Amino acid sequence: MAQSPKYIFYFIGDGFGIGALTFAENKATESGDSLCFSQFPVTGLITTHSANNLVTCSSAAVTALACGEKTNNNMLGVASDSVRVLTPVSTILQQQGYLVGIATSVSIDHATPAGFYAHSASRRSYYDIAKQISNSGFEFFAGSGFLKPELKDSISIFSLLEENNYFISNSISQCSDSKSFKNILIQTTEKDVKQLPFSIYKEEDDFTLAQITQLGIEKLCSQNKPFFFMVEGGLIDWAAHDNLVEELYGEIKEFSDAIEVALKFYKQHPKETLIIATADHETGGIFIDLNDIDFTTNEHTGNIVPVFAIGVGAENFSGLFDNTKIIKKLLKFFY
Ligand SMILES: [Zn+2]
Repeated sequence: MAQSPKYIFYFIGDGFGIGALTFAENKATESGDSLCFSQFPVTGLITTHSANNLVTCSSAAVTALACGEKTNNNMLGVASDSVRVLTPVSTILQQQGYLVGIATSVSIDHATPAGFYAHSASRRSYYDIAKQISNSGFEFFAGSGFLKPELKDSISIFSLLEENNYFISNSISQCSDSKSFKNILIQTTEKDVKQLPFSIYKEEDDFTLAQITQLGIEKLCSQNKPFFFMVEGGLIDWAAHDNLVEELYGEIKEFSDAIEVALKFYKQHPKETLIIATADHETGGIFIDLNDIDFTTNEHTGNIVPVFAIGVGAENFSGLFDNTKIIKKLLKFFY
């Protein structure tokens, strides 16, 4: 059996397809910037269709990326029969002694982060999805907030999480100072806070994905155990849905900056760390023509998307394969 990575980073750029990658590479080169993942030694491609559609939604895609099995659009962490519950890699690694962190630039109950801790026949059952955090036992969650923290005649999500020993913070320093083993960082406790502000509109107190990633590493390292850390760049998708060019580049750069934080960690622990950066699907039908960037749709497409990898076992992620295979390749280190 190959040596298993002690520290695993799984970055998911929501909606980050080949067109957006081409656009961002061009723009970065033009402006003297760089995208750190494009220097990774291993590049692959994945197919993204769901069980019932050539064009996936984020919940079916994350089910494939987290659980290694296709499901129907709008389902989360359950098989396409809508009954059989699937186990995400985060839970499997937790059983192997790994600490787990889940972070995003959108709400924590949104499809991509939720795919690593929840099961639901509908990705829109936000209260029910958030409730499942309390049973996960995972050590670190971060994002903009929760879409539906209150439900009539039910306990609030915040009370439930606090009852289950989660310390909830609204600032990086407060979370950093927390002595709790289980932490949740959110921008605000107001309901329906869908996202952190787009990168290009951020104000001083708004979290960046890089800050969240740094804080997550700090928290997950504090017990000297192995860890698995999923970080989603959730707003690449939202900028692409609305065909917003400047916002799109800002979010791809934000995603790259967060990966750069993991890359620094990798350089300190090169023999123990694996970083995988990929996407759940393409959004916007982006292509490059004489006008630079063009969008063909406001929706997702069924195009293949990139995978980048560096570190222990990275060589397994080259070539073209299905999105269900990433986790199968990763778990081969353990069985
Ligand atoms: Zn989308």
